[in-house]
Amino acid sequence: MTQSTTPPAGLPEKIRHYIGGQFVDSIDGEEFDVLNPVTNESYITAASGKKADIEAAVTAAKTAFDEGPWPTMLPRERARILYRIADIVESRKDELAAMESFDSGLPITQAKGQAARAAENFRFFADLIVAQVDDAFKVPGRQANYVNRKPIGVAGLITPWNTPFMLESWKLGPAIATGNTVVLKPAEFTPLSASLWPGIFEEAGLPTGVFNMVNGFGEEGYAGDSLVKHPDVPLISFTGESSTGQTIFANAAPWLKGLSMELGGKSPAVVFADADLEAAVNATIFGVFSLNGERCTAGSRILVEESIYDEFVERYAAQAKRVKVGLPSDPDTEVAALVHPEHFEKVMSYVEIGKTEARLVAGGGRPEGFETGNFVEPTVFADVAPDARIFQEEIFGPVVAITPFSSDEEALELANNTKYGLAAYIWTSDLKRAHNFSQAVESGMVWLNSNNVRDLRTPFGGVKASGLGHEGGYRSIDFYTEQQSVHINLGEVHNPVFGKQ
Ligand code: NAD
Repeated sequence: MTQSTTPPAGLPEKIRHYIGGQFVDSIDGEEFDVLNPVTNESYITAASGKKADIEAAVTAAKTAFDEGPWPTMLPRERARILYRIADIVESRKDELAAMESFDSGLPITQAKGQAARAAENFRFFADLIVAQVDDAFKVPGRQANYVNRKPIGVAGLITPWNTPFMLESWKLGPAIATGNTVVLKPAEFTPLSASLWPGIFEEAGLPTGVFNMVNGFGEEGYAGDSLVKHPDVPLISFTGESSTGQTIFANAAPWLKGLSMELGGKSPAVVFADADLEAAVNATIFGVFSLNGERCTAGSRILVEESIYDEFVERYAAQAKRVKVGLPSDPDTEVAALVHPEHFEKVMSYVEIGKTEARLVAGGGRPEGFETGNFVEPTVFADVAPDARIFQEEIFGPVVAITPFSSDEEALELANNTKYGLAAYIWTSDLKRAHNFSQAVESGMVWLNSNNVRDLRTPFGGVKASGLGHEGGYRSIDFYTEQQSVHINLGEVHNPVFGKQ
């Protein structure tokens, strides 16, 4: 296991906040341990931010916003810096992926893909702001009206530990592209890759104070909570659990802040008897076991038509047993270690619950040869009833529930039978059925006969308990900007005149 117990090259001495262009410790000096998911031993400490640290970061971000130059630069000038950020991220992607994989337990090949996507996010939003078109309307001879799009101010960005660097880039890209300044609060389980942002931004020439970062926890009095409650932060973009989203919603209410929330999921993958079975098995295996199952859009409930159910379950279980569990650093590894012992305990408790609720057909424990660390066998439960906890609750690990259905109506009822509504996957060769089902399923996104392919211009987000608002493409630009309407009279004043002489 030496490969995964030795931290990657380039590790900082400790992980600090970054405020107003300086790496700093917490004002009260508090730190916390960051664990290696393979050994669960602390390999570095990180500064634990509180209200006073957030205060300092927001002041730096607000000064950079109020005094410029970032918010008033031309979109093309900002875009040039974003392209440089993308190039630097790409040139450092091996280093980044090594850190991400070591810190989060993500298999290295998948971490490399995430680093490449992070670079692409900056390029994408740079392209968008240069091409941005705003509404203008005129009533000939009477009036003209146009939209004056403006950055809003200090954006608070709060991110989770799954694919942390990529998800940070998904918020940082549009937030800064549109001229805002930011305070990022990375997830406490995985602060390592975020510690590279300051160097990347400095090298790219991002003006001081535009990007600020405070590490630490989310709970009351800590960094996340203090960011949400800071009066000078009008926007909060949050990705994380639905229950945390509810708390943030309530805490942001007194200021009526702009909120964007990407939350949890329990997404159905519906396999009809007329589907290409091999493609469906391959895709649904990938859909729940890639990223260690720690994927918001994981197809973690598979609904299968009765006539092919037994064959599907048999093939699925056999293939799940062949998924290669290994060290995060091994390029052959398909599933590695879960992020943290607390999360490992949670996933394992669901595996035990599943054993009492359904038929275990693959996995169900620790993989052989991995007696320590957060390793879980790819686990498959069949005959899962819709009221089972493993059907209803987000597990966020390599655990899947398979349930039979006997009609299109029943499939739809089962698909919609959770509080979540993030994604849905439909496997059928009947086009009409595919489109009709898509329209009726309660989810923010649908994939038809396909994996997680996505054009960055499309809206990303969930319905029900899976989210609030959409990011992606111009929806992100809209979230991070104010659209002020300007009205000009071109003709005679048509209003009634009060107080006329
Ligand atoms: P989490 O909600 O526990 O934490 C997310 C972030 O919020 C962390 O940075 C945490 O410190 C912070 N936080 C916690 N309490 C807070 C509070 N009261 N105020 C402000 N900040 C607070 O989520 P997690 O366990 O890190 O991430 C996993 C969850 O994220 C899963 O539910 C997953 O489905 C979801 N997720 C959703 C998407 C999506 O796009 N829909 C993407 C990735 C992950």
